[in-house]
Amino acid sequence: AKDGGRNRFSHFTPALQEAAQTRMRLATDLRSALAEAQFRVHYQPIVDMATGEVHKAEALVRWQHPQRGLVSPGLFVPIAEASGVIVELGDWVFRQAVQQVAAWRVSHDPRFQISVNKSPVQFRSAAGTAQAWARHLADQGLPGECVVVEITEGLLLEADSHVFEQLAHLKQAGMPVSLDDFGTGYSSLSYLQKFDIDFLKIDQVFVRGLSATSKNIALCKAIIGMAHELGMKVVAEGVETEEQRQLLQAAGCDYGQGYLFARPMDGESLSRWLAETEG
Ligand code: C2E
Ligand code: CA
Ligand code: CA
Ligand code: CA
Repeated sequence: AKDGGRNRFSHFTPALQEAAQTRMRLATDLRSALAEAQFRVHYQPIVDMATGEVHKAEALVRWQHPQRGLVSPGLFVPIAEASGVIVELGDWVFRQAVQQVAAWRVSHDPRFQISVNKSPVQFRSAAGTAQAWARHLADQGLPGECVVVEITEGLLLEADSHVFEQLAHLKQAGMPVSLDDFGTGYSSLSYLQKFDIDFLKIDQVFVRGLSATSKNIALCKAIIGMAHELGMKVVAEGVETEEQRQLLQAAGCDYGQGYLFARPMDGESLSRWLAETEG
């Protein structure tokens, strides 16, 4: 076993080295990317399972790198977190989302909400982003409920008084909180009763294997039942097939998001998509 381990290690060393070098170059490039306007925000619709209506979307950042083309947020967000750039980038995504939600509230549906991902690094930064976000919405004359803040389980488990305070500021400003990637990180559920959470997002890993006979449908039903008991609405992520949609709807899931409905797209494209879906 020891020899196997050594072989495996030497075999992967060049690849690991290359990956580390790529991360270092991206970290350097990230610092100037914001000033050079290389980021875009795409939006993915979130569909009301019962009515088929769309009055929610998630904002997902995109990086158009001048040499590398489109770089996945799965790759660059962790780098932006490590360097702290995520604070400024996250503020930029938020302001884009605010502009977009204001437009869709007028053109499409006055209930429209956009979810924005907020990393633990943003919560822990000294800058007080929660107050700044609340102030920005107020300055625009928009209600707090326009923007839903997506957080991860890890934030709640490690929450200190500063994080608690930031969450409280969001709630005071009327901004709903959504718990992302639910079920992937931690086995403790006790934090659910300590925080006022509005939406729970079932992670794609549970949705992917859904069928009438699978254990995942039992898990989804249990999560949905628990969330409803606690007064939360449930969003299923990564809905790709009609069978998954039907099973989730039958299980009482409130909202669905996934390629079955639409991929993330730029604001103009989603405006057209919304107009077509309505008509
Ligand atoms: P997430 O918040 O869990 O976002 C959902 C991801 O699932 C998105 O990937 C989305 O494109 C993808 N997705 C949606 N529907 C489907 C489907 O039916 N099938 C499959 N296979 N995938 C689907 P994306 O856009 O690549 O983002 C990856 C992650 O990067 C996000 O995961 C989030 O953690 C992070 N991220 C993206 N934008 C931001 C941002 O503005 N701020 C922060 N802090 N993180 C962000
Ligand atoms: Ca998310
Ligand atoms: Ca997610
Ligand atoms: Ca995820």
